Amino acid sequence: MDKLEIGIGGDGQVRVLAAITTETVTEGVRRHSTSPTASAAFGRVLTGSALLAASLKDFDRLTVRIDAEGPIRGIVGEADRAGNVRGYVRNPLADAGVTSDGKLDVRSIVGSGMFYVIRESGFDVGLRKDPYIGSVPIISGEIAEDFAHYLFRSEQIPSAVLLGVLINNQEPFVAASGGVMVQMMPGANEHLVTMIEDTIRRAPHLTSCINEGAGPSDLVSMVLGEIPFEMVDSRDVEFKCGCSPEKAETLIAGLGKDEVDSMLKEDKGAVMNCGFCREEFVFDETQLAGLLERI
Ligand code: ZN
Repeated sequence: MDKLEIGIGGDGQVRVLAAITTETVTEGVRRHSTSPTASAAFGRVLTGSALLAASLKDFDRLTVRIDAEGPIRGIVGEADRAGNVRGYVRNPLADAGVTSDGKLDVRSIVGSGMFYVIRESGFDVGLRKDPYIGSVPIISGEIAEDFAHYLFRSEQIPSAVLLGVLINNQEPFVAASGGVMVQMMPGANEHLVTMIEDTIRRAPHLTSCINEGAGPSDLVSMVLGEIPFEMVDSRDVEFKCGCSPEKAETLIAGLGKDEVDSMLKEDKGAVMNCGFCREEFVFDETQLAGLLERI
């Protein structure tokens, strides 16, 4: 099972969230059949969403949405407090070659656009409040920098974010995936910030470390270097969708009596695909007729 862990370093001046998401991203990529470059982009967003959800307060459901002008057109990652993550990309076939340093060229399929974080709360108590929406323009398209930019501009948290997905040519397509989010607490001293920036610059490649078996606390240690830290929290992370036949039925019923009646008479059934996980829900004539009576 994938894990996300949180460490506190430098006497509380810095918080580091680190996650291994190889299984989570493998499942996302399998369900959405994304191209190699789209898989890298999608995996980074899923990982970043899980890390962000573990660091922000006051929500039941956190959505990261990238509206991209590049060929991928859009990427969505959604995470809850328990570590369940799901998402999709608008154009799973968007692909590109590799950059001069041998990395998949994520930036060229994302391009410019907007980066949104949507926090919804109140589900647990049946009281849906207005969602809180923060947004910044995409400044990089490589995604990790865009998470850092969002945290600084919208949440006033100076941070460094590393997100990496190592793609194989054959199954399983995701060899390694994970991320680290370093957040400076208010009043953190400049010397500490410089030390961390230096350590990150000289750190080994994130996905190589994960591929060689590094766990979340190894990643925390990798970015903090000599700075003492302790691990304070841990949770499982998993690609898990909340859809169900019951919810699919509610959505169909929501289309209205006339629509369901025509599905029954003309199509002799209905098929609904979950946008988040591609799960298919099939309703035959008998089920539709039963549903129609209850609308
Ligand atoms: Zn689903």
